[in-house]
Amino acid sequence: MNQYDVTVIGSGPGGYVAAIRCAQLGLKTALIEKYPTLGGTCLNVGCIPSKALLDSSEHYHNAHTAFADHGIGLDNLTVDMNRMIDRKAGVVKANVDGIAYLMKKNKIDVLTGVGSFVDKNHLSIAPTEGGEAQQIETKNVIIATGSKPTVLPFIKQDKQRIITSTEALNIREVPKHMIVIGGGVIGLEMASVYARLGAKVSVVEFMDSIIPTMDRGLGKELRRVLGKIGIEFFFSHKVTGATRDGDNVTVTATNAKGEEVKFEGDYCLVAVGRVPYTAGLNLEAAGVEMEERGRIKVDEHLQTNVPGIYAIGDVVRGAMLAHKAEEEGVFVAETIVGQKPHINYLLIPGVVYTWPEVAGVGYTEEQLKEQGKAYKVGSFPFKASGRARASGDTDGFVKVLADKTTDEILGVHMIGPRIADLIAEAVTAMEFRASAEDVARMSHSHPTYAEAMKEACLAATENRAIHM
Ligand code: FAD
Ligand code: NAD
Repeated sequence: MNQYDVTVIGSGPGGYVAAIRCAQLGLKTALIEKYPTLGGTCLNVGCIPSKALLDSSEHYHNAHTAFADHGIGLDNLTVDMNRMIDRKAGVVKANVDGIAYLMKKNKIDVLTGVGSFVDKNHLSIAPTEGGEAQQIETKNVIIATGSKPTVLPFIKQDKQRIITSTEALNIREVPKHMIVIGGGVIGLEMASVYARLGAKVSVVEFMDSIIPTMDRGLGKELRRVLGKIGIEFFFSHKVTGATRDGDNVTVTATNAKGEEVKFEGDYCLVAVGRVPYTAGLNLEAAGVEMEERGRIKVDEHLQTNVPGIYAIGDVVRGAMLAHKAEEEGVFVAETIVGQKPHINYLLIPGVVYTWPEVAGVGYTEEQLKEQGKAYKVGSFPFKASGRARASGDTDGFVKVLADKTTDEILGVHMIGPRIADLIAEAVTAMEFRASAEDVARMSHSHPTYAEAMKEACLAATENRAIHM
C-alpha cells in the first residue's frame, strides 16, 4: 500500500495549489480527482470557460456597437457559436493540461477516482468507470471537494433548456430569450455573454438589487449599464416554478405585490448559489463533523475536529472564490509543516467580470455604517479619466472609504474598465495599511485607468482630486 505524508482530495484551485505547496515543502503528496481532467470547477466549468466566453462575446459586442465610433466599418458581422464554444474548450484544455504538467513537475501522484475515507488514515480511490478500488495510507488529508449548483426543489432541471452554469457554458446557438433566475455573480456574467450576442435576457431576482452583498453603489451603477445592453431586471420576484415544453420554457414568479408573473423563453438558467459538495467522501468513517448548510466544520487552522484532517475552499465557510481556496491551500500546507501562516479574509477581493467590471475589497459603506465607524469617502468617475475617454469606457467610478481620523483605507469599491486587475492595487495598499494620502502621493503612470484610484484617494484625503 502506498504511503503519503499528505493526500489532497479534489483538484480545484484549493486542492491543486495545496498539493503543489505541500510538495514544495518536501512532503510526499498525492492528489485524488474523480474526473479525468484536473482543475476542478474553476478550470473546467467555472472561472476560465466563463471568462473565455465573456471575452469572445465582448469582442462581438464591441464590433457591433463600438467599432463604428472608432472609424472602423464591418460588413456582415456574424457569430459562429460552434467556433466560440470550441475556442473556449481549447482554453480550458490548455489550462487543465498545465495543471497536469505542474503535478508531474512537483512529483505529485495523481490518483483518478472517487476518494473516500476508510478511516482517519486510510483512503480508498474508486475508479469512476468501475473496476477495483485502490487503498492508500496517509498521515494528513486535505479535503478540497468544492461545491455544486444549488437546486431549487420545485424546479426540474433537464440540463438542456432548464440549465445550470455548466450547461450555459456550452450552448451552441444564441438563445432567443434566456430567463436567468438569480442576479448574483453567475447570473450576471452569463446574462452578459448572451445579451452581448443578441439574446433577449431577463434576470429574475429575489432581492431588491443585483449583487446585493457588494457595496450597494456598485449594483446600482451596474444595473444602469447592463440595462443599456438590453438586460431586463425583475426585482423582488420570488420564483415559484419553471417548466419546459419542447424548446420553450415558462418561469413563474410572485412579485412584490403578490401577483403571479410569467416569463416565456427558450432557456432558463438557474443561478441561485452553490452548495458544498461532500457526497461520496464517507466522512463518518473518519468521524469528521459537519456544520450548517452542508459545510465541513473547521477551526481557525482549517483543521476539522479530527487532527490531521483539514478542509479548504468552497467546502468550508467563507466566500466561494478560487483565490480564497488557493490561499487556504497554501495556508494548510504551511500549517502541516509547523509554520505560522496567516490569511486576512477581509482583504480577499470580490470581482464580477461583466463590462464594466466590478470589484470590491475591505468594508462596504453599509458595513461601516452598521459598525458606527466614522469614515470619509473619495470618489472618482471614469468619465473624467483621459484613458477611459480614449478607449470609450467612461461608465463607472472608483470609491475609496477611509478612516475619518487616521485616513487609513478601510474599503475600495470600483466599477469600470479593467478594474478586476486594478483592485490588486487596493489590496496591496490595504495589506500594508496605507492611508488614502499614501496612495495619493504615489506616481501612477499616465494615461491609465489606475489614475482613477489615485484621484479617488486624493478626493478622500482632502477633497483634492486634480481632474474633477
Ligand atoms: P472545486 O474547484 O469545486 O474543485 C473540487 C474538485 O473536487 C472537483 O474537481 C471535483 O470533481 C473533486 N471532487 C469532489 N469530490 C471528490 C471525491 N470524493 N474524490 C475525488 N475528487 C472529488 N471564482 C473566482 O474566484 N473567480 C471567478 O471568475 C469565478 N468564476 C466562476 C464561474 C462559474 C460559472 C462558477 C460555477 C464558479 C466560478 N468561481 C469563480 C468560483 C470558483 O470556481 C470556486 O470558488 C472554486 O473552484 C473553488 O475551488 P475548490 O478547490 O474549493 O473546489
Ligand atoms: P450568488 O450567491 O452570487 O447569487 C445568487 C443570487 O440568486 C442572489 O442574488 C440571490 O438573492 C438570488 N436568489 C436565490 N434564490 C432565488 C430565487 N428563488 N429566486 C430568485 N433569485 C434567487 O450565487 P451564484 O451567482 O450562483 O454564484 C455561486 C458562487 O460562485 C458565488 O459564491 C460566487 O462567489 C462564485 N462565483 C464567482 C465568480 C467571480 O468571482 N467572478 C463568478 C461566478 C461564480
